[in-house]
Amino acid sequence: MDGLGLRPPAADNPVNAEVCPTLCKLIERHCKPIDACLGLEGAPQSATGQATMFTGVNCAAAMGKHCEGFPGPALRAIIEKNNLFLELKRRSLSVKFADAYLVDGVDELAMRRFKSVTTVMALTSPETISTIDDLFEDRALMQDITRETIQERYPDIPVIPPQRAAEHLFALARKFDFTLFEFFQTDVVGHSMDYARACAVLRVYDRFLSALAMYADAAQLTIVLTSDHGNIEEMLSRSHTRNAIPFIAYGPKGEFLRSRVESLSDVTPALLAAIDSNGS
Ligand SMILES: [Zn+2]
Repeated sequence: MDGLGLRPPAADNPVNAEVCPTLCKLIERHCKPIDACLGLEGAPQSATGQATMFTGVNCAAAMGKHCEGFPGPALRAIIEKNNLFLELKRRSLSVKFADAYLVDGVDELAMRRFKSVTTVMALTSPETISTIDDLFEDRALMQDITRETIQERYPDIPVIPPQRAAEHLFALARKFDFTLFEFFQTDVVGHSMDYARACAVLRVYDRFLSALAMYADAAQLTIVLTSDHGNIEEMLSRSHTRNAIPFIAYGPKGEFLRSRVESLSDVTPALLAAIDSNGS
């Protein structure tokens, strides 16, 4: 979840039990607050934050600053050298990036001039990538969960309730050893300073998360939910925050994972340690 920090209850904090009860319950019971500032001054940003999350390298320290948006050549090189997907592949595990790209194939994606951290990582393991065909067949999710944002462009792809999207993600999670779903609407609305919109986005995500947690429980799967930096928890400010971020680990590996993280740079090592501990 992009742009989700931890902050005590406040009038401008939409992350509360009335708006998103499941998320709040998970934060209360299965969360370790971790650092996203990575030893640098200023507001943490997505490019270095996410690159740190998925490589285990403190990329803000490597770059000497927090870098926003899309990673440049130096940061891309760090991601391409090694990342979570490559480490999982090295262990002969299957990986899926559940967010569908609105492209017909990997080549079209590779041609894009601006690529996010997760896109750069996914392109190092092209078999992880989901395309428009996968979305048509319910083998992938739309980044907004309900698909409402693509209705004009793809009227043939029906809008679905968040619970249905959770079913789709759960089906992938059962099929693959590791499945990633990236949700960035929380950061988008965090920048808007529109409290009502923030609540609407969190309500959709919470219905999705509630169903997902129920399915994962029944199948004894582990869910890990974390962020790259704070934002939405302070709606009176347009910028990212320096608040701690949640590292939620729920399920069989929950305690193991939480005990191994203090900052964003511990996320990938902790995931790999959990996988190496018994392969499940
Ligand atoms: Zn942002």
